[in-house]
Amino acid sequence: MCVSNVGLGRLVGLGFRQVGSSFTMFGDLFEEDYSSVSNYEYGKEKKLKTKALEPPAPREFTNLSGIRNQGGTCYLNSLLQTLHFTPEFREALFSLGPEELGSFEDKDKPDAKVRIIPLQLQRLFAQLLLLDQDAASTADLTDSFGWTSNEEMRQHDVQELNRILFSALETSLVGTSGHDLINRLYHGTVVNQVVCKECKNVSEKQEDFLDLTVAVKNVSGLEDALWTMYVEEEMFDCDNLYHCGTCDRLVKAAKSAKLRKLPPFLTVSLLRFNFDFVKRERYKETSCYTFPLRINLKPFCEQSDLDDLEHVYDLFSVIIHKGGCYGGHYHVYIKDVDHLGNWQSQEEKSKPDVNLKDLQNEEEIDDDPLIILKVILLQEENNVIPVDQLGQKLLKKIGTSWNKKYRKQYGPLRKFLQLHSQVFLLSSDESTVSLLKNGSLRAESDFQRNDQHVFKTLTSESPGLNDRNSCPHWFDINDSKVQPIKEKDIERQFQGKESAYMLFYRKSQLQRPPEARANPRYGVPRHLLNEMDAANIELQTKRAEWDSTNNNFELHLHLGPHYHFFNGALHPIISQAESVWDLTFDKRKTLGDLRQSIFQLLDFWEGDMVLSVAKFVPAGLHVYQMLDGDDMMLCEMEIADGEDLFVWNGVEVGGIQIPTGSDCEPLLLNVLHLATSSEGEKCQQLVESPHVFPSNAEVGAVLTTLAVPVGVLFVNATDPAGGENWVAVPKEDLKKTFREQGLRNKSLVLVQDSRDNSLLLKQGKWFTGMNEINWLQVQNLCELESEEKQVKISATVNTVVFDLRIKAIKELKLMKELAENSCLRPIDRNGKLLCPVPDGYTLKEAELKMGSSLGLCPGKAPTSSQLFLFFTMGSDVQPGTEMEIIVEETISVRDCLKLMLEQSGLPGDTWHLRKMDWCYEAGEPLCEEDATLRELMICSGDTLLLIEGKLPPPGFLKVPVWWYQPRGPAGHWKSHPDQRSGTPSPGGVWRAASTQGAPGDLHGEVSLRYLGDLEISEDATVAELKSQSVLIGHVFCATFSEMSCFLSRP
Ligand SMILES: [Zn+2]
Repeated sequence: MCVSNVGLGRLVGLGFRQVGSSFTMFGDLFEEDYSSVSNYEYGKEKKLKTKALEPPAPREFTNLSGIRNQGGTCYLNSLLQTLHFTPEFREALFSLGPEELGSFEDKDKPDAKVRIIPLQLQRLFAQLLLLDQDAASTADLTDSFGWTSNEEMRQHDVQELNRILFSALETSLVGTSGHDLINRLYHGTVVNQVVCKECKNVSEKQEDFLDLTVAVKNVSGLEDALWTMYVEEEMFDCDNLYHCGTCDRLVKAAKSAKLRKLPPFLTVSLLRFNFDFVKRERYKETSCYTFPLRINLKPFCEQSDLDDLEHVYDLFSVIIHKGGCYGGHYHVYIKDVDHLGNWQSQEEKSKPDVNLKDLQNEEEIDDDPLIILKVILLQEENNVIPVDQLGQKLLKKIGTSWNKKYRKQYGPLRKFLQLHSQVFLLSSDESTVSLLKNGSLRAESDFQRNDQHVFKTLTSESPGLNDRNSCPHWFDINDSKVQPIKEKDIERQFQGKESAYMLFYRKSQLQRPPEARANPRYGVPRHLLNEMDAANIELQTKRAEWDSTNNNFELHLHLGPHYHFFNGALHPIISQAESVWDLTFDKRKTLGDLRQSIFQLLDFWEGDMVLSVAKFVPAGLHVYQMLDGDDMMLCEMEIADGEDLFVWNGVEVGGIQIPTGSDCEPLLLNVLHLATSSEGEKCQQLVESPHVFPSNAEVGAVLTTLAVPVGVLFVNATDPAGGENWVAVPKEDLKKTFREQGLRNKSLVLVQDSRDNSLLLKQGKWFTGMNEINWLQVQNLCELESEEKQVKISATVNTVVFDLRIKAIKELKLMKELAENSCLRPIDRNGKLLCPVPDGYTLKEAELKMGSSLGLCPGKAPTSSQLFLFFTMGSDVQPGTEMEIIVEETISVRDCLKLMLEQSGLPGDTWHLRKMDWCYEAGEPLCEEDATLRELMICSGDTLLLIEGKLPPPGFLKVPVWWYQPRGPAGHWKSHPDQRSGTPSPGGVWRAASTQGAPGDLHGEVSLRYLGDLEISEDATVAELKSQSVLIGHVFCATFSEMSCFLSRP
C-alpha cells in the first residue's frame, strides 16, 4: 500500500520554506482561548454532541455552510473557508479526478495510490457547496493530516498552517497534473538588488514566496509597509560599505527589493505578534493598520510592460484574530465572489417598499405580513396599537390569525415585530407597537441590538442596495455560524484586540464565468455531485424521521361520558382501559386540528367538545385548565408528551358539575382517629382511613367529616432531623385551606376529640399508624416537684408493668425511693384514674392499650391477693369523687363496710353496701355480710356504694311499703298538705328499685306513696305484714281499711 497520507506534523520538521522557527519561541501563543468563544457556539456544539441522533440542522437563510469547531480548530476553519471561497483553487482541485487521486474505496487496496488529503479536501468543498447542513465537519480531513489529538490541532498558527497545508497538498499532488497547483495560484517572487554606486553593477537575488509577511509595528497600513519594503532604498555608506565584486572593493551602494512576479492570489500575513526583547515578553500589536479593499501593486513592482490592471488586486478574505497573544479565536470575513450565498437579509427578501397609501385600498393587500401589519398600523391613530390588539385586527382584516397563517414561517408575532425593527417600534415593555415613519429615528436603539440587526437596518437604508448585483457580498464565517456583513464592516478589523491577521487578495482581472454565478454545482465533478445528492436525500430522510419521533407526542384522551364523579375525583365507570384512548399527534399542529381529529375518532360525540388537561392524582382523575385557542400549535401550549386530556362538554360529568383547576385539586389524606366500637371503651382503637378533600377547602372540614365537632387536628410534619413531628393546628388555622396548611397527598392527619384525652400528645411526638404505637404515656400524679409532668415510655405488649413504672420514675426525674411506694394507674377517657395495675403483670395481661395514658401515683399497687376498690356514699355517683381502698379479697362484706365507714368518717351503723353496676347504678345490696368479697365476685376496680339503712338480720325481709291511693274526687289527693308529688322521698335511694317493683301501669291513674321499709320475718304471714304496714302508714291515712299491700321483692 502506498497511500500518500503525509502528516502535516511531520512536514513541519522538514523545514519547508520559512516555516518559522520563531513560532516555537511563542509556545502556546496560538492556543485557543475557549472563554472567548461565544456561548452560543459552544452551547450549540454541546447540544449536537448530546443529541447524537439528531441530524445536522439545514442551512440558515444565508444558504452557506459553516464548519464545526472540532475543539480549537477555528484557525483551520477560517483558512479552509478562504480556500473554499477561492473558486480558482477549488476548481483546480476539483479538476483532479479519481484517475489521478485514486478513490476512498481503494484506500485499503495494497497497490492503489490514494491521495487522501486532496480527496478529503475535495469532499469538504463539495459539502460546503452542496450539502444542506449548517456546518460541515473537518474530522476526516484532519485525520488525513495525521492529526490525532487536540494537542496537534492546537499547535498551529493560521499563518503557519497556511504554509504547512500548502506544503502537504503539494507533496500529496506530486506526480499528478495538480503538482503545480499551489505554485500556479500563490507563488510569487521578490527580487533583492544591490546597485554599486561606482560601477552601477546590479547584483540581484530572487526569493520565492507563497505569502508576504509584512510588519505592523510602526507602520500605518499595508501600503505603508509595502512602501518601506519595496520602494525605499537602503544605502551602504560610511561605516557600512558594500563589497562590489566588479570593483573588487568596498563601495557605496543602494539596496532595494521589488516584487517581480505577482501570483494570481496574494496572501499577506501581518506580523501582529512580536517579542519585546527588553521586557522579554510577547505582545500583540493592536495599533491601527489599514488595508485597502483594492490595491495597485505597481509601485512595489519591477518596471515592466504589463498593463496597469495586471497590478490591481481586490481583497476577498480577511482572517481575524480575536484575543491577546496568549489565546484567541479566529473567524473570517469572506467575499462571496460567485454569489453562492444569500447575502440579502430576510426582510430584503420581502417585497420592496410599496407605496403605503396605495395599500390602504384593501384590494391590494397580499400575503406579505409586513405590509399587512403596516397597513393596520397606518389606520390606527398615531400609528400605535397594543400588540395584543394588533393580532386581533389582523384576524379581522384577513380572516385568519397570525398563528395559523404566518407563525410557521415567521415565528411569533412579537418576534416578527422585533426582527423588523426598521419598520416597527415596540415599547420598552413590548406591550404596544408603533409604526416608524422615519427610519433614521431608529439608528440609536438599533445599535444597541446585535450586529445582525444593525446590519439589517443599515442595509435596508443603504442606497447602494439598488444595485444588488454589483454589490460585494461579504460574510462573516465564524465556525458554524455564517452571517452576512457589509463591506464597510471590514474597517472594524483595522485595529484592536480583534483585528485582521491575514489578508487575501485576488487579481481583479480574474473573471468568473457567468455560469458559475450562484451555481454551487459549477465545477463539481460528477461523482461528488452524486455523492452530495445522495447525502442530501439521506439527510432529508433522517430529518423527517427525527422530526416525527420528536414532534409527535402521545396523548391520552379520557372521555367524559366514561367517567363519573365521586369521592372528590373522577373515576372510570367501567375500566381504565375503556375510558382512555391513546392518540399520537404532531405537536406542531394546532389545537383546532386536534379537536377535529378527536371529533373524527369519536363519531358518537354530540354537542360541544372541550379539551382540558387532566392528571391522575391519588384521589382519582382531576381536570385542570381548559385548552383554549384553536390556532395555537400544541407545542406552544402547556401540553407535554404523554399528557392526559379530558374530553368533555366543559360543564358536567354524569350530571355533576365537577370542580376544575389546580386550586381545588383533590387531596387524599390519611386520617387517624379513635373509633369507639359498640362494645364500649375497651374496644376503642386508632383507625386510619383515607378521605378526599379539595385543596382549597378549609382544614376544619376534616372535623366535620368525621363528626367530631369539638376536636383538635394534628398534622404530621417531618422535622429536618427526619423525625416525625405532630403539630396541632391552632383553632384559628382551621379556616385555612389544606394547601395553605401545606398538606399534600397521603399526608397524615390525626383527629382527636377534645372530650377524649386518652391519647394525649406530648411534644408533638406521635406515631405514623396504629401499628406503630409502641409507648404509653405516664403522667406524674405523685404531687411531687418535678419539671416533667408527663413522659412517654416505649414498651411492647410484653413489657412488665414494674419495668414501665421504674422507667417512668426515671424519666419523670422523680426520686428513686418512689419505686418502693408508687403504682401505675390507667387514666380513662374521662380523666378518671382507674385501679392500679399490678407490677407483675405484662401490659397485655393488664389489658393496657398502647398509646394510652397512665398516672404514676403514690402508694403501692395491690398485691395479687388484694382488691382495689372505689367507694362512695349514696348512689348518685359523681365521677372522680370516689374514695379508694385496698382490701384483702378474703375480707368479709361486713368488715369491708366497716373499713369504708372508717375511711369516710361516716357515723352510725345503719349502712349497707351495694355494688355499682355498669350503668353506674346501684345494684342489689350485698346482703350476705359474712361472705368474703372474693365469694361475691368483687373485683379490683369495682365501685361499692355506701347506702344508708341497715340490712335486715338473717331470716328477715326488708319490705318497702307503698301506699296505694286510687284517684279520688278530682284534685282530692293533691290537696294533701304533705303531698310532694314528684319529689324524691328521704328514702329516694330506693327509687330505682321501687320503680321496678311498683305497679308502673297504674302510674298514670293512681298515686303511690312510699311509706317506709318494713322488716319482717320470712316466716311472717301476709296478715302480719299488713298489720305492721298499717302501723307505719297511719300517719298519713285516715282510711286504713282501704289500704292494701303490694309486696315488693327485697
Ligand atoms: Zn562596483
